[in-house]
Amino acid sequence: MAEQFLCSNLSAGENGRLYFAGQDTQELARRYGTPLYLMDEQRIRERCRTYVQAVKTAFGGRGRVLFAAKAAAFRRMLAIMAEEGMCADLVSPGEIWTAARAGFPLERAWFHSSNKSDEDIAFAMEHGVGAIVVDSTEELFAIDRIAAERRVQQPILLRLTPGIDPHTFEAVATGKVDSKFGFGIETGLAEEITRTALSLCHVSLIGFHCHVGSEVFDSDVFLRSAEIMLRFIAMVKERYGYEAGILDLGGGYGVRYLSDQPDIDIAANIMEVGAYITRRCAELGIAQPEVAFEPGRSIVADAGLTLYTVGMVKRIPDIVNYVSVDGGMTDNIRYALYQAPYTVLAAGKLSEPWDLRCTVVGRCCESGDIIQPDVALPASIRRGDLLAVCTTGAYNYSMASNYNRVPRPPIVMLNEGESYVAVRRESLDDLLALDE
Ligand SMILES: *Cc1c(COP(=O)(O)O)cnc(C)c1O
Repeated sequence: MAEQFLCSNLSAGENGRLYFAGQDTQELARRYGTPLYLMDEQRIRERCRTYVQAVKTAFGGRGRVLFAAKAAAFRRMLAIMAEEGMCADLVSPGEIWTAARAGFPLERAWFHSSNKSDEDIAFAMEHGVGAIVVDSTEELFAIDRIAAERRVQQPILLRLTPGIDPHTFEAVATGKVDSKFGFGIETGLAEEITRTALSLCHVSLIGFHCHVGSEVFDSDVFLRSAEIMLRFIAMVKERYGYEAGILDLGGGYGVRYLSDQPDIDIAANIMEVGAYITRRCAELGIAQPEVAFEPGRSIVADAGLTLYTVGMVKRIPDIVNYVSVDGGMTDNIRYALYQAPYTVLAAGKLSEPWDLRCTVVGRCCESGDIIQPDVALPASIRRGDLLAVCTTGAYNYSMASNYNRVPRPPIVMLNEGESYVAVRRESLDDLLALDE
């Protein structure tokens, strides 16, 4: 069994029970109830250290790692990021406020988002974010105007679209020419906005950003985007005499949701990107910019596990078997949203044969409320059994909703044999908190 586990923080106990971060999932479910998000704190820290160390080695101190907070934004998480020396990519006043209340040093945060209102921009400036990543012309002028009113010069990066298809599925591909994000390099918009940015008095252009997409497994995606971005930087230097100080390559490294997916060696990959950038900068005659990465998923995904209790098993002979759980699209919308794959384990029955093909569904009033179709579970699975869905640390809690007025599960952190609540379970009264 062990070699089939997706991540080293999963193991099987003698009792056939699933252990996560060394702790018995059955015990955790009893103690905290289900549905339950578990997060392995040591795994999160280990991933941060892998990135920070790799970037340090590859770019000799001229690099930074920003945690894309949208993957998992809550106070404790931002506090861990601060402790690990990470920077942060924040996309809304809500995330900025969460980081501020976590004691995260906001000068180490950049403010992204594909559509920032004047209020958002003012809020970010007020809280002293290190830089704003500009996504549109309207936004650039708004930042310049608001900075003028505040009598400051706001550091900015421009989000460019390098025109790369990262061979990933459509809904998470963001760097192609027809993308809603950023300024296209091929279309000439990137050059035009650079010229405009350089002409404005209250913004200071510190570099360029791109993010080609999520769940990238091809090691050459970052090389291809770096190549296009470096050529753009060289062109801008030649035509306008401006040399970008920062190149942000975005996030997107994939993680294993299924055991047949590859396990990317992120450190090796970053070293390869580093060597490539050094060589190409020399060839292009530009100074090597500081290089930034913005991982979200690959920092937190496999540090997460969701536990559910089975409610019913419905067998429709020769058609399908349904196993329904006490959560669903409210705590994990990713299958419903883009058919995301997940590994489902019968957490109390690891030693039984898994001979029932079934579709694991949630409790909501939607046929599309599916956690995962066509998984194998033991034929003995029944009401009261525990199910674990692996690799739920990224984009599960942060996309959670109260559809059907289902309270959101708590996040319990596991650390060196101990557990503690980082986000408490929503109560029925919490659901009414905003009703006048
Ligand atoms: C979503 C996003 C990220 C993080 O992507 P992951 O796939 O979670 O690593 C980084 N940067 C930007 C701009 C994003 O939109």
